[in-house]
Amino acid sequence: MNIFKDMEANGKESTQPKKPCRACYDFKSWTKMQQNELGNKSTPSSNENQNPHPSAGCPLDKDELGRNTWGFLHTMAAYFPDTPTAREQKQMTYFMKLFSKYYPCDHCAEDFRRSIRESPPETTTRWGFSQWLCRMHNQVNKKLGKEEFDCNLVDQRWKDGWDDGSCG
Ligand code: FAD
Repeated sequence: MNIFKDMEANGKESTQPKKPCRACYDFKSWTKMQQNELGNKSTPSSNENQNPHPSAGCPLDKDELGRNTWGFLHTMAAYFPDTPTAREQKQMTYFMKLFSKYYPCDHCAEDFRRSIRESPPETTTRWGFSQWLCRMHNQVNKKLGKEEFDCNLVDQRWKDGWDDGSCG
């Protein structure tokens, strides 16, 4: 089954959302877009740069969604079997491809699909998968002008806790 072919075919049927997609923008940009929609051109003040209610039951913006999602993905990779069966390898590859279709930030998802096409998921071992995901995350970090993460440290960050014992 060519999942990307299916995805592209399905994509043609989708309709554009009417409201700005909150999960596609940082909170400041999204607020500006909402204001423009309402004909109110005032610029948000600096304390509106961050979602004021990130954990108060409000929908996630792009950055909250990203942070939470990376946490899930890296943790899932950390607990993937050390030596997965052929079926588990295939399933994880399939999962990542489906994930990249349904990730709610559409421009993020599009770039991620491109990255997966260029560098397919490495699922033959737990370590290999964690490393692949770390490289994928670093590609996004690079694109956003953020510091790259040292992939040798993924197990300390996402599985075992730091060697200095600070995670208990
Ligand atoms: P995050 O980048 O969310 O990282 C969370 C934590 O992970 C960090 O604090 C660090 O401890 C750890 N970490 C950092 N790098 C790595 C790594 N390489 N390996 C392991 N652990 C690491 N935002 C956009 O603006 N444009 C995009 O195109 C875009 N694409 C995305 C694609 C995906 C699949 C996902 C999940 C998110 C995407 N995002 C995108 C969101 C973006 O990556 C960040 O999540 C968001 O900017 C918040 O960043 P942050 O600084 O809080 O840390």
